[in-house]
Amino acid sequence: MAARVVGTLGAMLASLVLVVPDAGTSVVLGKQRLLTVLVSYGPRPFTRSDVTTAVNEAAAFISRSSFGRLTLQPTTTPWLEGGATEPSCGDSSDRMFAPLRAVAAAVGYQTRNYDRVIYVVAGPDCGFHGIEFGNEVLIVRQPDARLIVHELGHTFGLPHAGASNVCGTWCVTQEQGDLYSPMGTGFADFSAYEKEQLGWIPRQPRVTKPGKYLVYPVSPSAVTRQALVIEAPEGEYWLEQRPGLASPGLIVRLVNPDTASRAFIAPTTLLLAPIRTGHPVITPGQTFRVRGEFSVKVARAAKTPIRLSVSLSATLR
Ligand SMILES: [Zn+2]
Repeated sequence: MAARVVGTLGAMLASLVLVVPDAGTSVVLGKQRLLTVLVSYGPRPFTRSDVTTAVNEAAAFISRSSFGRLTLQPTTTPWLEGGATEPSCGDSSDRMFAPLRAVAAAVGYQTRNYDRVIYVVAGPDCGFHGIEFGNEVLIVRQPDARLIVHELGHTFGLPHAGASNVCGTWCVTQEQGDLYSPMGTGFADFSAYEKEQLGWIPRQPRVTKPGKYLVYPVSPSAVTRQALVIEAPEGEYWLEQRPGLASPGLIVRLVNPDTASRAFIAPTTLLLAPIRTGHPVITPGQTFRVRGEFSVKVARAAKTPIRLSVSLSATLR
């Protein structure tokens, strides 16, 4: 029995793909063969080349965000005729995907030979843009790179990335409101928390005592210090630099890892107003405080890495 388990693991490692959906943790590394199947039930409202452009842009985003630890190897079919039986959107995932798998197989694309499959379908009115089950995604509109990355993110096991203006006893959360993560409304970069979950960066430093800390901008040469994590009773505060090339600034997400296992409950909440309403970014010289718990003072010098002074209340030491 043990040998069999080792054999399976060995085979998974050999294909350079590892997916471990366990308590919300999913490590996704290596090369992922991505098949995109275009299926029409009459109309062809966009071209195959529109789709390959979006897929390539999505692949570049993921390669950059993962520091090359995850690379997509895309194959895109021509438009295929779906025939008489449209996929049943509201039905079980199997009833939905089975006719689409059959359409691909009929022209020689065996979907089981790919790590991820995206069906881009024109014709049916499903009442959603995209939906994902396991390693398969159904998209029923013209896909752009953000939608592809978002749906692939779900196949990696990532839930939505939320955001909140108000956090008191409870956070009032916009379930998909994160301004930066593709699992929210953004398309800047996956969050450090998401990257740690996916195995793209190592475990980030947790604050264990007050003192000075550094947070680096997103860079392959500083993957061990992309974020600083402060563990508090209500969750983990993840501080990282705002993605992009703008002047240095910090953003904060409150993370409740325990809620990470269910696909549509956001375990991360970007704080939209960590200091002042309408300002999600903490800038040099400002201090972010959680009353009774900790404060983080951002050094005045607008340089990278950002230098932080962390004070902890007695309860967090
Ligand atoms: Zn989603």
